[in-house]
Amino acid sequence: MTHTTPAAPPPAGPTTFASRDPATGRVLADHPVHGPDDVADAVRRSREAAGRWAALPAAERRSALLTWKRELAARLDAVAATVAAETGKPRADAELELLLTLVHLDWAARHAGRLLRRRRVRSGWLAANQSATLVHRPLGVIGVIGPWNYPVYTPMGSIGYALAAGNGVVFKPSEYTPATGAALAEAFDAAVPESAGLLTVVTGAGPTGEALARSGVDKVAFTGSPGTARRVMAVCAESLTPLLAECGGKDAVIVAADADLDAAADAVVWGAMGNAGQTCAGVERVYAVREIHEELCRRIVERARDLRPGAGSDASYGPMTMPGQAEVVRRHITEALAAGAEALWGGTDSVAGNVVAPVVLTGVPEDCPALTEETFGPVVVVNAVTDVDEAVRLADASRYALGAAVFCGSRRTGAALAARLRAGAVSVNSVLGFAAVPALPFGGSGDSGFGRVHGAEGLLSFTAPQSVTVRRFAAPVDLTSFRTPAAAKARAVALVRGLHRRR
Ligand code: NAD
Repeated sequence: MTHTTPAAPPPAGPTTFASRDPATGRVLADHPVHGPDDVADAVRRSREAAGRWAALPAAERRSALLTWKRELAARLDAVAATVAAETGKPRADAELELLLTLVHLDWAARHAGRLLRRRRVRSGWLAANQSATLVHRPLGVIGVIGPWNYPVYTPMGSIGYALAAGNGVVFKPSEYTPATGAALAEAFDAAVPESAGLLTVVTGAGPTGEALARSGVDKVAFTGSPGTARRVMAVCAESLTPLLAECGGKDAVIVAADADLDAAADAVVWGAMGNAGQTCAGVERVYAVREIHEELCRRIVERARDLRPGAGSDASYGPMTMPGQAEVVRRHITEALAAGAEALWGGTDSVAGNVVAPVVLTGVPEDCPALTEETFGPVVVVNAVTDVDEAVRLADASRYALGAAVFCGSRRTGAALAARLRAGAVSVNSVLGFAAVPALPFGGSGDSGFGRVHGAEGLLSFTAPQSVTVRRFAAPVDLTSFRTPAAAKARAVALVRGLHRRR
């Protein structure tokens, strides 16, 4: 008889993790690492609250969400301070992010009732004896997995709209911004105590997110990199859990010969360098027609050299939030220069620790990582093109298709150029103009993901349509009965066929 020693239980993982100030590395706070049991518990609590929430009249949900909005507005200073501490972004940037969030939450709260309520649709003459209605019902509980770069605005595009559509939400914020996530749920519970638990936050890194994707939630709304989206999608595939994926971008700006070059340069520098370039729909590529390329570059450099990155209160933008990102940025610059690009401002020396000074490159070959991969740093490539047709072709050649912008003397030509682009959102004569319009859906295709947040489409993303017919009277020829004579069915077929052959 052989004796086997029982296998030792697997070593328990850490039960807490630290969030840090990106500028100094100083620990800000410790947060729990939530495992599958904690996540299951959060989903259960949210589901219980969601049953009551979905049963409320739409007007009551609207009123509760507007109370939450007012609570967030009241707490704006404190939440912005948390965002700034966890991401390293300047306080003013955090405040702007919160303002945009309030505008979106307000819109979702006020429009959900009208957009999702039951409405009649035409039955058509073949089913004239039926009355037909369509309603958009909540899905249940939505698992929201968020990034750190806009830790309020981005996940709230899912959280606010999912709640407005009548769902519960379990939110896993990025491990870099856990306190920001917790602040959203605390404000909700304070504002709407009768629905406490409807919005629940779980904290931790990838494994906590994976547990949420596996937890039996009714949909996962993920925002992050395309690599992680693929892993989340593989987990969702096991249980056919639907997924909304908001991923990265490599946004292009097209500058036509008759564009206002000051406006274009201003917008390019803000769109490329703001938030240290860590914006999913930030400007990473500029295609300027040859006649104005040199002058545009001059004006871009003139503005970029005035920026002051760092941690001070007067900084234009902060350090890189993720310690490893500075190396990605350095590699993109190094490989572009090795391939023959010219640095008009800055270069590899601009990467100093986790603070990256602005870099403006030109003449970058299209197959360089600086043009094919998301750089996510304060680096912009400004390449010359023969005409706007070439600009459209190159802008669309990326595997990302999130946002884009066009600068053009004529608004009408600008809009026509916008319509030729694959991007999910395009601004003419501004950058990121769409971000502040809550009625506009946001999202991309390709490696930028799929599905939409914001606007009516954003509300619909968190619902399932239910179609209902109610028979009003017996049809002259009942096509759904075995008892209808074959001759009557044949006459009906001949009639419908005849009609469709003529029209
Ligand atoms: P990330 O992919 O590293 O992480 C995103 C989230 O996924 C985090 O909460 C993380 O903990 C979690 N996660 C990691 N592994 C997981 C796993 N296996 N299963 C489940 N969850 C997991 O992205 P990030 O660095 O936090 O964010 C930056 C990226 O997000 C960039 O690519 C940026 O472009 C993108 N982004 C997109 C949008 C948009 O709306 N399209 C908005 C903001 C950021």
